Amino acid sequence: MSEKKYWDEKIETLPRVQLEELQRRELKEMLTFAYNNSTYYKEAFDKARLSPDDFKHLEDIQKFPFTNKATQRERQAKGGLLGDMIAVSEDDVVFVSASSGSTGVPTLSPFTKQDFDEWQDVESRLFYGAGMRKHDRYVHALNFSLFVGGPDVIGAQNLGALCIWAGTVPSERLLFILKEFQPTIIWTTPSYALYLGETALKMGIDPAKDLAIRTIIVAGEPGGSIATTRETIEKVWGAQLYDFFGLSDIFGACAGMCQAKDGLHIAEDHILVEVLDVKTGEPVVDGERGELVYTTLRKKARPLIRFKTGDIGSVNREPCSCGRTHARIKIHGRLDDMFIVSGVNIFPSDIEFVIRGTAGITGEYLIRLYEQNHSVKYRLEIEKSNDNDEPDEILTERVAASLKTRLGVKPGDVTILKDGDLERATHKAKRLIDERTLIYEI
Ligand SMILES: [Zn+2]
Repeated sequence: MSEKKYWDEKIETLPRVQLEELQRRELKEMLTFAYNNSTYYKEAFDKARLSPDDFKHLEDIQKFPFTNKATQRERQAKGGLLGDMIAVSEDDVVFVSASSGSTGVPTLSPFTKQDFDEWQDVESRLFYGAGMRKHDRYVHALNFSLFVGGPDVIGAQNLGALCIWAGTVPSERLLFILKEFQPTIIWTTPSYALYLGETALKMGIDPAKDLAIRTIIVAGEPGGSIATTRETIEKVWGAQLYDFFGLSDIFGACAGMCQAKDGLHIAEDHILVEVLDVKTGEPVVDGERGELVYTTLRKKARPLIRFKTGDIGSVNREPCSCGRTHARIKIHGRLDDMFIVSGVNIFPSDIEFVIRGTAGITGEYLIRLYEQNHSVKYRLEIEKSNDNDEPDEILTERVAASLKTRLGVKPGDVTILKDGDLERATHKAKRLIDERTLIYEI
């Protein structure tokens, strides 16, 4: 018997007209459910003088109020463990993940048993789309402590892969696992994939020859969707890289790359995506950048309606060469990390694309924002490769010219460091330091 092409062919290849009708039906039900069962949503809809009956067409969602991280924090404090956004009794909640809390009180994301099982089915679907099969050995190298990415390993297990629950262990330990058990797939962050590859080489292990990894799944940073970064990691490991995207408020992974690697298919039967102009809040046309706003269509424990993520990205609803009909999203970075130089919006990921694609440097970088004559400038620190004997002035000019071509604006300054001078990230890399004293409005 030939191998099936999709995890769930019917849903993944549903013609868009039917998919959008399914979303409309689910959303109508969800709005009604949230209104009838969540104190917060009843209050919010009443305040906006809206009822679930005002939702007839998919576009009608635009009438409904937004939620964001601050809403979650405020309403979590309303009493009980989970606050008043939840729409089920705590007795029906079987799992909570928590956000990192790096920007305030950690928020809990609750799941009913059905929410949890459906989430893991989405994970199986995304793993399958990235090429995972029953014969694979899979190392889950994500944090298990409260982090929503932890349980995603169950999706791989349900798919039938042999799963190794490694978690976040020291690099030497992880490399021991990779050497000893010869797994074929690993999931980590892009920065860590590079760091681990470099560490292996230093220990005399060539990841491309001595290890069996053929697929690397990454998430948590934009790197996996930056072609030059992806190719760098693929070269070190002699493996294919697939980018996933998730958020603690919904699923460990909500979207993942297929073999076409042109954007991440988002599970549209569970999540409605809007891309909105940051200033006006109006939808942008497909392909243009805006803030990604999600509505969960089936999660019962805590429905999320029009959740503003603070992520800037774009959506593509054109058919994909893989045959899947679900939209593909591209994430360019956090709204908080975007800066404006001479009227140009720049994300660290735009700079990373150039830096990773430039010969003679290691690909590591640090951006520092500063002010000069009341305007924003950026300076860049990069590392010269050990085998590059090019004079620093020439290298500086070459990098500045590439950035000017790609972004339209040159850096104010480029500092050349030695290989290894910049700190290597073992989880999420800090690539941007804001040294401005004034706060600029975006
Ligand atoms: Zn595809």
